Order: sequence, then structure tokens, then C-alpha cells
Amino acid sequence: MKKTLPYDKAKIEAIIKEYPTPFHIYDEHGLRTRVRALQKAFSWNKGYKEYYAVKACPNPVLMQILKEEGCGMDCSSYAELMLSEAVGIVADNIMFSSNATPAKDFEYARRLDAIINLDDISHIDFLAKHGGIPKTICCRFNPGGEFKIGTQIMGNPADAKYGFTRAQLTEGMKKLKELGVTEFGLHSFLSSNNTDNMYYPTLAKLLFETAKELHNELGIKIGFINLSGGVGIPYRPEDAETDIQFVGDKVHEAYEAAFAGTDLQPRIFTELGRYVSGPVGTLVTTVLHEKKTYKDFIGCDACAANLMRPAMYGAYHHVTVLGKEDAPCDHLYDITGSLCESNDRFAIDRKLPKIEIGDILAIHDTGAHGFSMGYNYNGKLKSAELLLCEDGSVKMIRRAETTKDYFATFDFLHLPRLNDEE
Ligand SMILES: *Cc1c(COP(=O)(O)O)cnc(C)c1O
Repeated sequence: MKKTLPYDKAKIEAIIKEYPTPFHIYDEHGLRTRVRALQKAFSWNKGYKEYYAVKACPNPVLMQILKEEGCGMDCSSYAELMLSEAVGIVADNIMFSSNATPAKDFEYARRLDAIINLDDISHIDFLAKHGGIPKTICCRFNPGGEFKIGTQIMGNPADAKYGFTRAQLTEGMKKLKELGVTEFGLHSFLSSNNTDNMYYPTLAKLLFETAKELHNELGIKIGFINLSGGVGIPYRPEDAETDIQFVGDKVHEAYEAAFAGTDLQPRIFTELGRYVSGPVGTLVTTVLHEKKTYKDFIGCDACAANLMRPAMYGAYHHVTVLGKEDAPCDHLYDITGSLCESNDRFAIDRKLPKIEIGDILAIHDTGAHGFSMGYNYNGKLKSAELLLCEDGSVKMIRRAETTKDYFATFDFLHLPRLNDEE
């Protein structure tokens, strides 16, 4: 499928007059459309809720939009809880899915009355000491072994750091029941960026069967099943788009098969980050240099500090040269940033139209795990984030970092050059 953008070159040029590149820009209409399609696919389940994974794009303006759409937030750190509280998302609209959790994070999550999703059996005593055991709690399940859909290996849970073993679930939930828990949730996250339409249904079946077993063993109420994240998006033009309606229907089938005629009618929760916001973000960058040595390098004003996925995992992000959407892709380029780090390439051996200095590149699908993974290596600063509003206007939803931000943690040294404005 051809990768498209919700803006053309003229629109982006107008935006650049006000907000210089690089920046990430998010499409409000696209965000609302995606989350509504997701909710429709699960509307058969009363009490269904999407807890957006804040780490995917921790911006309070986007979180506010998702709140308007009826989403909760999946948080895993103190700062993510702060963001959620700041936009008025608290109590059972927060799923706190943390691991290796600091005491003060649990204490804060309990003050907000968030739903705690425990990662480990040893965290029961830790939580009892730091915040206390709530009435409702979720446990994260790690089934071990390999996670397969049919014969295809989709993940390696036995190697993952997350979750309770099956035996620990029985032991842990028994203990939690004794400590006063009256309602349980069950969660698992077994595969990432998975565009196989059977990922969620396969995971759901596993969780539904396990929930029934635990209900029968321990006489506990399983109030919800949390399918977590992992539903993928088509980063490459040839990748298939997840058919979310099909996914919802198949989870429904598995639900009926597991629970029809039983007194278990759990709510379904999801914690999708990438699926909801990945495709609605774009990193916009300007070409500064072309360097021809043994390869043809295009040097642009964004770098891996703005989008780490290609450098970190060799991830593919589609690149469009604005204004040359229909030109033949008859040149071979590496698109690089300016870090002193050879991995700093948004694209390697990519066929693109002929690029000129000053061309504007749109790097697609940066709306999840894009800006948020950014870092400051080489003293590179994080970019602004912009929102293309539904009415066509553009607003800044995070300003670009300045050197003053970067040096803020040296303020106690009172070094005049570093602590003054640029
Ligand atoms: C990262 C994460 C998610 C979201 O993952 P996506 O791949 O963006 O869907 C959901 N739940 C937990 C616990 C996570 O750590």
C-alpha cells in the first residue's frame, strides 16, 4: 500500500516558517479515527477500555485528546503518573504496569488509586509495605516457553523479564485474596509490533483459559482481562495493516467459547501504544548536506536523538521527499543525522527520488516510540512536537529544547556560560 501523509509540501513549508525543522507533527484527526475504530472493534464487550501506553508518546495534549475519546492511560513510571494526573486521568482510568518498581512509584500510584498491574510475586510484600494492597489488582502472566501462533514463533516469553510464572499466579493470587483483594485482572504481553491478525485472539484465548483455571482453583473473581500492547502497524509500504475489526471479532469468538454459560464475564482492556498513535506522527527534517564517498549520504537536521528506532533496532521508517511523491525512485541514498555514531541513519540503501539540499523529508510513523525514546547524545537537543488540529490549524504542543534545558542539571555549578541564555 502506498504510504501517504495528511499534509503536502506547501502546508509543511508554511508550518516551517513558524516552527523550524526538525519537529514531530501529529495528526489529531488520524488519532481520533484510529482510537474510535479500536473501540468499535471491542464494543461487544461492556466495560471495554483502551489504556493508552503513555510511554509511546507522553504528551499531555495528545493524552487529553485520548481522554476525550474515553481512553485511560497505561503508566509505568512516576513521571508518567504525573502526566496522567495533570490531565485529570486518575483512579481506575490508570493502569500502572511497571516492573522493577521503585517504592515511591507504588506509593504514588496508590495515592491516585490507580489499578496496579503487579509484575512479580515478590512485589506483593513490597506493595503491602509501600502503598498497601488495594481491593482490585491485576497480575502479569508470563507463560514461559515460546509464544507461537500456529507454527510461527512470535516471541520468547521464557527469556523475558516480565510477569509471574503460571505456578506463581496461583500462589500469588491466593495470597492477595488473603490480603483482602476482591477483584483480579490478568495481563500478558507476549509479542511486539505484531501485525498478525491472530496475535490478540491467540493471546486472549491463553488468558481466558488461565482466568477460568484460576477462578476454579481459588474461587476468585476475575473482573478483567488486559490484552496489553503489541498490535503492530505497517511501517513498510508492503506490510499488511492490522484488521482491527477482525481482531476484535476473533477475540469476541474466543470470549464466547471460554465464558458462555459461566459466571465469568470479564471486561476487556487493551494497552495499545503503537497501534493507536504510531501512524499519526511524522518527523519532518530538512536536508543540509549531500556527501558522496563510497556511498551517497544525505545529511539532515534530525538525528537519532529525535528518532532512535532505526539506530537501535534497524527499524524501517518510510521516507517521503516532499513535493517528489510521484517522482521515480531512481537514486540510492543513506539518510543520516549528525551524531558521531555510525548507526545514526534513518535509512540505508534506500531508493528515493533525486534529493537536493534544502529538500524536506518526512519520516513516517513516528507517533509511537519516536520522540519519547529520544536522548541527548552529542548534546543534541530534542525537537518540538506539533499538532495538526482537526480544523487544519497547527499548534505547538511541546517546544524544542534549548541548550539551557540541556545544561539545567549543572545549574548548581553556577558556570556563567552554561547557565545563561544562548
Ligand atoms: C510498551 C507497553 C505497551 C505498549 O506497547 P505497544 O507496542 O506500543 O502497543 C503496553 N503495555 C505495556 C506494559 C508496555 O510496556
